Amino acid sequence: TGKGTVIYNQLQSYIRELYHKYGYQEVITPQIFDTELFHKSGHYQNYKENMYFTMVHEREFASKPMNCPSHCLLYKTEKHSYRELPLKIADFGRLHRFEKSGALHGLTRVTSFCQDDAHIFCTMDQLQTEIGNFINLLNEVYAKLGMKDYRIYLSTRPEKRMGSDEVWDRAESALEKALKALNLPYTINAGDGAFYGPKLDIMFVDAIQRPWQLGTIQCDFNMPESFELTYVGEDNKDHRPVMLHRAVLGSLERFLGVYLEHTAGHLPLWLAPVQVSILNVTDRVNSFCEELESLLNSRGVRVVFDRRNEKLNYKIREAQLQ
Ligand code: ZN
Repeated sequence: TGKGTVIYNQLQSYIRELYHKYGYQEVITPQIFDTELFHKSGHYQNYKENMYFTMVHEREFASKPMNCPSHCLLYKTEKHSYRELPLKIADFGRLHRFEKSGALHGLTRVTSFCQDDAHIFCTMDQLQTEIGNFINLLNEVYAKLGMKDYRIYLSTRPEKRMGSDEVWDRAESALEKALKALNLPYTINAGDGAFYGPKLDIMFVDAIQRPWQLGTIQCDFNMPESFELTYVGEDNKDHRPVMLHRAVLGSLERFLGVYLEHTAGHLPLWLAPVQVSILNVTDRVNSFCEELESLLNSRGVRVVFDRRNEKLNYKIREAQLQ
């Protein structure tokens, strides 16, 4: 509804401010791609069951289930030097993932959604710092939203995966090393990694102690390999960057579902769809109420004027419940 969209947009603009502060650049990428792209990224082989396909002029296209393949294409449009790294590309692109109807659940499991998604292309040496920067960003966001309690899980190689065991060994130990260096407690979730790499899952614990997976940072050596991504190092030779997939809130739809449960609907003022309700005592004060409404409106306050001919107590109660 319109009110949900206000919260959604507020969250996005808050995250955008932080993108600026943390050195991300936001991009916009297409919705559908020739499936050739997803063969290359490994999604076709490992994620097909969750994708939507369509034929256009006898070519098979798919709606993107993730932003990563298009960000690899973007990376490849230019030559990169080690001086530009880490390169951080953020995208609120709409994603579609097919789910069996039994798996769908309210706002927390939907087929069309967007994430506060970003990919960081960096060198091996920058990995630890970038994981640290991500944790700092996450702490800032969660603190602002009054989400104090979270746990970190290190998810390792799943059965269905791409890449060699050596590559997985490297990626898993890189994540573990970063956690140890940052002194962050964590639990190992064996076999729960993404098909392209191991990940840290951030489990937020809500007001009534339920854990929800929201944030994630995933370490990927495979996709840069498949797309033959390179940067020119200090030695003037080509090197492979590491790709980090990361989200702080995760799917905004899912986040909203979890957050409404956590706060029981008592949103902070900056997120509230309606910030001020003007309730008239009698019709005789309507013109003053309208003046007030347009004054607040012009100052960017989200205001409604409830001019219904109802008892004041009733209107107060309703506004509070809302
Ligand atoms: Zn990704």
